[in-house]
Amino acid sequence: MTDSTKRNRKKGRLFVLSGPSGVGKGTLRQHALNNVPNLKYSISCTTRKPRDGETDGVEYRFISHGKFKEDIAGNLFLEYAHVHEDFYGTLKADVVNELEKGNDVLLEIDVQGALQVKQKMPDAVLIFVAPPGIEELKRRLTGRHTENDKSINVRLNNALKELELKDKYDYVIVNDDLDSACEELRKLIL
Ligand code: 5GP
Repeated sequence: MTDSTKRNRKKGRLFVLSGPSGVGKGTLRQHALNNVPNLKYSISCTTRKPRDGETDGVEYRFISHGKFKEDIAGNLFLEYAHVHEDFYGTLKADVVNELEKGNDVLLEIDVQGALQVKQKMPDAVLIFVAPPGIEELKRRLTGRHTENDKSINVRLNNALKELELKDKYDYVIVNDDLDSACEELRKLIL
């Protein structure tokens, strides 16, 4: 690519998706990635252990606490946060490289991280996915059988705190009907 084509190429936009655990963010994210051209997902780093079926470098980069601390000290994260019981963070270089290439980037991160991103990159579009109600969220979290009771309670308590911050987002999508919520997100990004 010549210097002038690089200069003329439009920078991509950054979209940040948040919402309580179990609200369906993963499905919405995948639908957007499958249906919006040039939308890239930034794979986060985490100190959480992989769940059954998860692969390093696909769902997350699974790293040790020591490595996470090193990367914080090296200023490698665009944002990071302690979520539930582990650390999660987005690598700055991943996001910036894709935006520079002209691709749009989607992050799926928690509320603390989303607010850090908005502070550093005010043009980022923050989208909050809300459940139709807390009872429904509890039902979904219990039904997916990926967490034990303690973990479910931690996630439900965090959900209540996250819901209080949804007004700080640019858009709120209520995931009552999954197909409509997927379509709403796709249109919003497009
Ligand atoms: P899970 O452990 O269920 O995959 O994710 C737990 C929470 O961590 C979710 O709310 C998810 O959005 C959030 N999360 C995942 N990656 C990141 C990240 O890079 N930064 C922040 N701040 N949160 C993240």
